[in-house]
Amino acid sequence: MAARVLDGKARSAQVRGEIAKTVAALRDKHGIEVCLAVLIVGEDPASQVYVRNKVAACEQAGIRSLHERFAADTTQQALLARIAELNADASVHGILVQLPLPAHIDRQTVLEAIAVAKDVDGFHAENAGRLSHNDPAAMVACTPRGVMDLLAQAGVTLQGAEAVVIGRSDIVGKPMAMLLTNAGATVTVCHSKTRDLAAHLRRADIVVAAVGKPRMVTGEMLKPGAVVIDVGINRQPDGKLCGDVDYASAAEVASAITPVPGGVGPMTIAMLLANTVDAACRQHGVTL
Ligand code: NAD
Repeated sequence: MAARVLDGKARSAQVRGEIAKTVAALRDKHGIEVCLAVLIVGEDPASQVYVRNKVAACEQAGIRSLHERFAADTTQQALLARIAELNADASVHGILVQLPLPAHIDRQTVLEAIAVAKDVDGFHAENAGRLSHNDPAAMVACTPRGVMDLLAQAGVTLQGAEAVVIGRSDIVGKPMAMLLTNAGATVTVCHSKTRDLAAHLRRADIVVAAVGKPRMVTGEMLKPGAVVIDVGINRQPDGKLCGDVDYASAAEVASAITPVPGGVGPMTIAMLLANTVDAACRQHGVTL
């Protein structure tokens, strides 16, 4: 039986439509102009595309965006100084520094310089800590938050489910595992040192692949009926994108699956906007 396709593009459009209404209501009823600052250092082409997409998504939702570009040789001190100004600027609700940063800038120092309340990427250690405490005030990393939304939309039962997260990065794997744990799943985190990935996958009702290796998860590794979420984005030699999951064989075995592109990717941007609106509401003490 072919798997149900979890359409992240359609869900993202729906979420972004709802966010646009909220942004308009915040402006019209509360006089709040939601604003996100997006900072990019250097000329990395992929990062530039990501930033342009984020800025465009803000505009579509009625969110004001400050797109700030810094030369590749910008000092860490200069970047930190600008972040401090944005932290102090009450008209700016969210601050995002596009990764990766040039080698001479310490990523963690920069991420932790962002005010916790404005950390719309959810990468600050304090937000990660809050998430691990299941604190609703945590700003949750956008991609894992998007995955949770897709699972909820699909009506997937998380409580008691066996979930395997492949990848343990601070920005995807770890927060993903934490969210699933908080939701009552029994979570196994697999990574580059895992001895027998297939053995873990065979037991998994839910698989989230966040590795960056094209088609490494195949249908024969999956438990029949598993829900498969493919976070991976890999550029193939022909220029097309593919995920970490071999879609064709996995779709034969899974009950539901996200495509690449059009699955998790669009959800990440939608959740960035959602985090920005949440941040603005909290900073102004508005409950919707
Ligand atoms: P990362 O490189 O920081 O982490 C990769 C993880 O995969 C590591 O924890 C590593 O231990 C694990 N890994 C490597 N080889 C493995 C193997 N053979 N078996 C099991 N685990 C293995 O990457 P990341 O930032 O977490 O991103 C992961 C993927 O998700 C990338 O393809 C990235 O482009 C994609 N991504 C997509 C979105 C989105 O919006 N869809 C957002 C962020 C990242």
